Parts: sequence; structure tokens; C-alpha cells
Amino acid sequence: MELFIISLMIQLIIKRLEELYSFRIFEDSDPFRVLIRTILSQRTRDENTDAASALLFTKFSTPEAIAYAPVEELEILIKKSGFYHVKARRIKEVSRIIHEEYDNMVPNNFKELLNLPGVGRKTANCVLVYGFHEDAIPVDVHVHRISNRIGLVDTKTPDETEAKLREVIPKKYWLPLNDLFVQFGQNICKPIGPKHEICPITEICHYYNKI
Ligand code: SF4
Repeated sequence: MELFIISLMIQLIIKRLEELYSFRIFEDSDPFRVLIRTILSQRTRDENTDAASALLFTKFSTPEAIAYAPVEELEILIKKSGFYHVKARRIKEVSRIIHEEYDNMVPNNFKELLNLPGVGRKTANCVLVYGFHEDAIPVDVHVHRISNRIGLVDTKTPDETEAKLREVIPKKYWLPLNDLFVQFGQNICKPIGPKHEICPITEICHYYNKI
């Protein structure tokens, strides 16, 4: 599909989704908390991440505090996020590195973020968008699925989707894309049983127009 067409499509999609959903990205934009929260969010649902993060940050909220916290206590606090044995050790190690090597400042650099243990492309991009308000495209299961359904990309993996979206989507639309697509994916364009009947973008959806 031509870049010009994709540019018009994404302009329409963002406009329609902004009419449906509020912009949540600056609710808590502390880069360290965004980083830890995103690690906790891996392979769990948003409500579990919210509960685990709230409990954790009530007790320990700085790199130094988490780095020196007993791992057993961290496990109890973040238990709701699942895989808590692994995640407790991961957030402790990440916090130690941020404290000792970065003077408590999370790097706003994609490559350095990727070097942190347990930080992949999605997490690094989340920190850039939600912690530093920089143009990046975190691709989770919602962004990957929706982008393919609509026809913005034709890809097999989230990493491929990210690369393709970066190529075809004008930068001015990168920042809100993840937040809007996540809300859209949770409420309308669900993995199973997408609610086409209330979808605001049926006329440009490749998947819908093939049914
Ligand atoms: S028409 Fe259906 S598949 Fe297409 S974006 Fe809307 S809900 Fe998703």
C-alpha cells in the first residue's frame, strides 16, 4: 500500500480513536516507575500490573529502595503480577544498575535501555513514550493484531510490526498510537470476537472488508 494512503489512514484512525478514548499517557510519567511497571506488566493483565505496582510503590519507589529491598518482600508485594520470583529479581537488578551506574536516572536512550536485564524492545519503547514523551512505537499484542487487521502492515511478529510501522507511519502519530490501540484492542477490536458493529473505522479495515 502506498505511503500516502497509509498516512491518510492513520490520520483518520487516530482522529476517530481520540474521539472515543482519553489520552492516558501522562498519568504517571516518572521514567523509573514506568520502567518497573512495564517489567511487571510482562505476561499479565493490566489490572494485575496496577495492583502490583501500587503495592510496590507504596513501600519502595526509588531505585535505591528497590535495589536494597529483601527479594522475599518484593515477591510478596508484586505477587499479583505473576512470575513474581523472576520479576522480583529482575526489578531488583534493574534498580541496582540504575542506582549504581546511572546515578538513579533512567537512560532515555534506546540502546542503553535494551541492555538492562529483562528489557526488550516493547519495554524500552514504553519507557521512551510514557517516561520521556519521546516519539517511539511500543508494539504489544494489541498493536500487532490491530495493525495487521486494519492493513497498515502485513507482518508475523511484534518486532516486524514495529519496524514496518516506523517505516510507514509519520512520526507525529507515533506517541499516541500505543495508548489508543491498547484501549481500542481491549474494548472493540478484541482478539476474539471483535465488535465490528460498534467500530468507528470499518470503512478502512482490510479484515472487515474481506468478511
Ligand atoms: S472493523 Fe473489526 S477487525 Fe476491523 S478494526 Fe474494527 S473491530 Fe477491528
